[in-house]
Amino acid sequence: MTTTDPKTMKIAVYSVKDFETPFFDDYGKNSHALTLIEEPLTKNNTDKADGCQAIISFPTDDISAEVIEKLSDLDINYIVSRSAGVDHIDIDKAKDEGIKVANAPEYSPSAIAEHAAGIMLLLNRNLIQADEKVSRHDFRLKGLVGKELRKQTVGIIGVGSIGAKLTEILHGFGSKVLLYDIKKNEALEEKFNARYVGLDELCRHADVISIHAPLNEKTNHMIDREKFKIMKDGVMLLNLGRGAVVDTKALVEALKAGKVSKAGLDVYENEKGLFFYDHSGEQLQDETFAYLESNNNVFITTHQAFSTEDAIANMTKLAFECLEDWENGNDPESMI
Ligand code: NAD
Repeated sequence: MTTTDPKTMKIAVYSVKDFETPFFDDYGKNSHALTLIEEPLTKNNTDKADGCQAIISFPTDDISAEVIEKLSDLDINYIVSRSAGVDHIDIDKAKDEGIKVANAPEYSPSAIAEHAAGIMLLLNRNLIQADEKVSRHDFRLKGLVGKELRKQTVGIIGVGSIGAKLTEILHGFGSKVLLYDIKKNEALEEKFNARYVGLDELCRHADVISIHAPLNEKTNHMIDREKFKIMKDGVMLLNLGRGAVVDTKALVEALKAGKVSKAGLDVYENEKGLFFYDHSGEQLQDETFAYLESNNNVFITTHQAFSTEDAIANMTKLAFECLEDWENGNDPESMI
């Protein structure tokens, strides 16, 4: 844990990863008193924020009602998440306790959209298998015949800032793009020749489905057995939103049945305690994850899509801008 000299606002930053520290030094150390804490925030370590007015959080933190009560007892006034997603925060409870909450939207939609496009290309061209073959010195092309994004229909579920950027990228590849969202961004239809459709229609017609929706009551298990049933045989499914948007057990069944031929996952329903930690050499207890991880038609990155230099710099900067707005008596635009 590092504590700098007290300056203005005292801030506890939880879930700090080593690669983030230089960014906090750049943006925070001259104007704020920062306590950088490696562990995620849980009900057991709220005391580390004692004496602080604000928390800078990350999606690995558990900011449930119980934790918020403890933060309120410590007189925490502000929580800002250096993330777009805020499903780890009980927003209603924070409001009840008079704690203001904001997030860091659009810190770099390209980071996640480019990651999604990269996974689509990797899976379409069988690059996992290609790499395996090269490592065993099998230089034949057997089993490596791929597909072109140009010829595919890609369905994007959740068309906010990330989904919009992915629409633009896919338009560049020449793909036909179907969109599903509860809100329409008509400019996307005009600019990138994309088309909003219902969720079932998207599931029926897409060769590739990429999920970029937030996790909430409506999106929890939005992709379930029924949705897999109506998808095209051999569909490719990507999830870079939140793990629980997909019913993972149903995904495993769909992979086993060949309904889903390939999957690309940057998020996983039970990723808490798994992703962001070094479990090298351990037997994985989670059988579902063990199956996914051992299937070479499934490509997994461990919530890495956000992780670019630009994105980390921006998410840090946006978090401090929110706190500075509050310090100056204004509510930030991203207040929830
Ligand atoms: P955003 O707020 O710009 O867009 C979210 C979109 O989802 C909005 O257009 C909203 O209308 C739509 N939506 C909400 N409920 C819906 C529903 N029931 N059905 C369909 N669409 C619905 O957010 P964003 O910046 O595009 O990020 C989207 C999500 O991606 C975040 O909430 C977060 O969970 C996830 N994310 C993941 C990573 C990563 O590293 N894997 C990084 C950033 C964000």
